[in-house]
Amino acid sequence: MEIPQKMRAMLMEKQGQPLELKRVDVPQPGPEQVLVKVHTCGVCRTDLHIMDSDLTEPKLPLILGHEIVGSVVKKGQNVEKFELGDRIGVPWLGYTDGTCKYCQRGQENLCNHPKFTGYTIDGGYAEYTVADQRYCFPVSDTFGDVEAAPLLCAGLIGYRTYRLAGEYKDRLGIYGFGAAAHIIAQVAIHQGHKIYAFTRPGDTKSQEFARSLGATWAGGSDTPPPDELDAAMIFAPVGSLMVEALKATAKGATVVSGGIHMSDIPSFPYRLLWEERQFRSVANLTRQDGEQFMQLAPQVPVKTQTQPFPLEQANEALDQLRDGEIEGAAVLVISEE
Ligand SMILES: [Zn+2]
Ligand SMILES: [Zn+2]
Repeated sequence: MEIPQKMRAMLMEKQGQPLELKRVDVPQPGPEQVLVKVHTCGVCRTDLHIMDSDLTEPKLPLILGHEIVGSVVKKGQNVEKFELGDRIGVPWLGYTDGTCKYCQRGQENLCNHPKFTGYTIDGGYAEYTVADQRYCFPVSDTFGDVEAAPLLCAGLIGYRTYRLAGEYKDRLGIYGFGAAAHIIAQVAIHQGHKIYAFTRPGDTKSQEFARSLGATWAGGSDTPPPDELDAAMIFAPVGSLMVEALKATAKGATVVSGGIHMSDIPSFPYRLLWEERQFRSVANLTRQDGEQFMQLAPQVPVKTQTQPFPLEQANEALDQLRDGEIEGAAVLVISEE
């Protein structure tokens, strides 16, 4: 395949301003890297947090995007995991040092020297990207290019959040019913759990969407659920929801924040935490999470709801995500095959 010298990319020159369409050099893969022709790239809330300077240390200029589906078009000399033409997914976790105490004890998501796709290394809002083969996953043929993109972050982070929600989650609350929630709700229901979906008050469209996926109950986050929750996952970046969820839980429940950034959590009386309730966060993902989830998703099978946008309309996609206008997940379509 002919690989061009230049490519189109939506570039973030600085934080706090819209992305700009630019022609830039196609990157060259290093020894452990593959050059990926990007088919699709999901648009994630974290991209907004990077643009808005909630995350403070991006590479600049930066190509955002960490839910990449594409095909391998060139390989570095050490690449043996993939062949030319393989369709792969590139997630948020792009590199770890393998030597720090967290890597050594199997918590590479907490690595001291990580690199993140579309944040500290260039991502997928472009026609090509390079990625370290060791952090990429095969993508099941069950999924088309557009459907698969949201699995790579919304799905993976959703899955890690779900895992960390603990052993007991028969009645599982989900606060914020967007990209991550709509994927992991299907997994949870497939595994026999009941879903209680909480949306912005009055957002009957999202409540209807949650019910259509099999949620037992859906309502506004200001409404108490009909049953006590055994666990709750928070996917909206709203700290007060952590406390709202805690109020709705049964003894021994875990409340997990699945977000990378959240507004302050208000103080709350100790009695809400009493009886061994747990309050925790989730950071990044491990490769093991990725491998498990990418095998599980086609078994469910997860159906992702997507809203496609051309690469040039990345700013529009981000604006609509910010305004809560995206049902499911926004996906940039770059070279669908
Ligand atoms: Zn490490
Ligand atoms: Zn993400």
